[in-house]
Amino acid sequence: MTGTDEDAGPRPATFTVHSPAGGDPLGEHPVHGPQDVALAVERARTAAAGWAALSAAHRRDHLLRWKRKLASSLDAVAQAIAAETGKPRGDAVLEVILTLEHLDWAARNADRVLRGRRVRGGLLAVNQRATVAHRPLGVIGVIGPWNYPLYTPMGSIGYALAAGNTVVFKPSEHTPGTGVLLAELLASAVPEHAGLLTIVTGAAATGEALARSGVDKVAFTGSPGTARKVMAVCARSLTPLLAECGGKDATIVTVDADLDAAADAVVWGAMSNAGQTCAGVERVYCVREVHALFCRKVVERAEALRVGPVPDADYGPMTTPAQTAVVRRHVDQALAAGARALLGGTASTSNSAPAPASTSVSVSTSGPASGAYVTPVVLVDVPEESAAMTEETFGPVVAINAVASTDEAVQRANASPYALAASVFCHDRRAGAAIAARLRAGAVSVNSVLGFAAVPALPFGGSGESGFGRIHGADGLRAFTAPQSVTVQRFAPPVDLTSFRTPSAARARAVAVARWLHHRR
Ligand code: NAD
Repeated sequence: MTGTDEDAGPRPATFTVHSPAGGDPLGEHPVHGPQDVALAVERARTAAAGWAALSAAHRRDHLLRWKRKLASSLDAVAQAIAAETGKPRGDAVLEVILTLEHLDWAARNADRVLRGRRVRGGLLAVNQRATVAHRPLGVIGVIGPWNYPLYTPMGSIGYALAAGNTVVFKPSEHTPGTGVLLAELLASAVPEHAGLLTIVTGAAATGEALARSGVDKVAFTGSPGTARKVMAVCARSLTPLLAECGGKDATIVTVDADLDAAADAVVWGAMSNAGQTCAGVERVYCVREVHALFCRKVVERAEALRVGPVPDADYGPMTTPAQTAVVRRHVDQALAAGARALLGGTASTSNSAPAPASTSVSVSTSGPASGAYVTPVVLVDVPEESAAMTEETFGPVVAINAVASTDEAVQRANASPYALAASVFCHDRRAGAAIAARLRAGAVSVNSVLGFAAVPALPFGGSGESGFGRIHGADGLRAFTAPQSVTVQRFAPPVDLTSFRTPSAARARAVAVARWLHHRR
């Protein structure tokens, strides 16, 4: 466990992380078992009491110290992210900057959001002073993914700490080094509070041990399939769960949209980070009148992207080899079902013959243990029931289907089992916002993609296959607390309804008054 002085017993087995770009080994990490995880949780629990007892101002100051440490170590953190994920350094820097914004917001706003506030006593309790405060839960177990190994888990870690909890974090087995560095920076920025953030490393079994460990809440980010397994484990102990899962996000392009701006945004939303973004653009519904022109603009921009082991690449390799197979399957099946590839795929516009599996996406690998560079794929006429439209592809692939109207676009966008985010491109901003309100999505951007990600005050999360619960914003702080309601009796009530000694006539008068008031209101 990183960040602990205790001896966890015999040296655990280790695993090696390889660079997705070149296959070189990047680091060796322990495979933490249930005992190690239990020790980490115990350590976090010891630290939790002192952390929760601090004044909100002290916690804020400590977290801002950590934030400044992260900012001054920006290059090292971005380097760790880029090495483990394969994403270009610029993307990794952006990830760190977004994280700093969120940590800053969580630290500065926790007190305002969570402090006790007075509520009205109401008719039956005019004699009570009623308040509600949000208390920390204790220890939060965070299980993270690999695609944004800093920004995504910090949506839980930063907010949970700001709300007065301590955290045990299991990073993805593909990106443990980033998690370890994060905890080291916190330990060096706030040395007087050991145990605020403890890292346990390993794969599924370590995550399962954390879900089983008796933490007070699990914040999971990953695929819906894994969320189901984590939820089943949490169910045994009624451990609450926050599940941030995948997406199949849709973009709607209306007839009057600025097609150049929309094409720019769609290409970035679909292809950046090699398409490995939970709220990336995977489906586009564009009204028929402008579909052909819009597709030309998308293809123009997508084919200009630099992909591969080259300097200044626009995106990197697939982080895991398994992901390449998913992308290939989705493109293959879509083409076989009648979709056309305007870019990538078979490079053929014929839909008569299914593509041979090996040529459907252009893939180059740069090392035996590495992922692969997949060049952009733009598909049209993709059958709505094909995997490319119903399952998360998580690759540099975008499907652009023509629709008769905005209404049809909304209906198709909403037909997905996922409901994470969406975007709308529309000349009239008010009309765009009206379309947004009709979308089944946890977050919608009008005339941009992922606009909400840089606004810490906005909650983020989905429904359906995209999970449940919210990170970020006030809801994201409250997610790691339990409301506690307190009444303080200020004076004896005129009629005490909680005493056996109250005469029945007085009780009847009180009932009559309540009946009369509620009848009138
Ligand atoms: P994953 O589900 O394979 O793994 C996620 C984490 O769960 C990893 O740390 C993994 O080791 C752990 N895990 C695996 N099996 C487990 C088990 N049985 N019990 C406990 N933990 C277990 O997901 P991934 O491939 O790492 O990440 C990609 C997925 O994450 C995509 O679906 C993506 O959309 C999603 N994601 C969602 C968000 C969001 O905020 N909604 C953000 C980023 C990524």
